[in-house]
Amino acid sequence: MDMNAYAEQTRKTALYPGRGETIGLLYTTLGLAGEAGEIANKVKKIIRDDNMELTEKKRQELKGELGDLFWYLARTCEEVGLNPSEVMQMNLDKLFDRKERGVIQGSGDDR
Ligand SMILES: [Mg+2]
Repeated sequence: MDMNAYAEQTRKTALYPGRGETIGLLYTTLGLAGEAGEIANKVKKIIRDDNMELTEKKRQELKGELGDLFWYLARTCEEVGLNPSEVMQMNLDKLFDRKERGVIQGSGDDR
């Protein structure tokens, strides 16, 4: 599925306070961080409970959480007024530029 088409569909289930205002951006950003935490916790439990093996059950659980993350990411893009596909392309352009210049490793936003 195309990310822009997905983002458009999320509007139909975007039932949160302050949509289109700073509070809406805050809400989606907190949701994004929360879902990232849920993913991290599922992965942590692979170490603790599954003897470091990614089981099919965990894969499906992660699939659900990654979907939740996508929803909040799409909503955050919209709250900021950004087109998700443009954000994705900008990121790839940045990374390929860094790779070409031999600075993909290291740290700092302005490499
Ligand atoms: Mg979730």
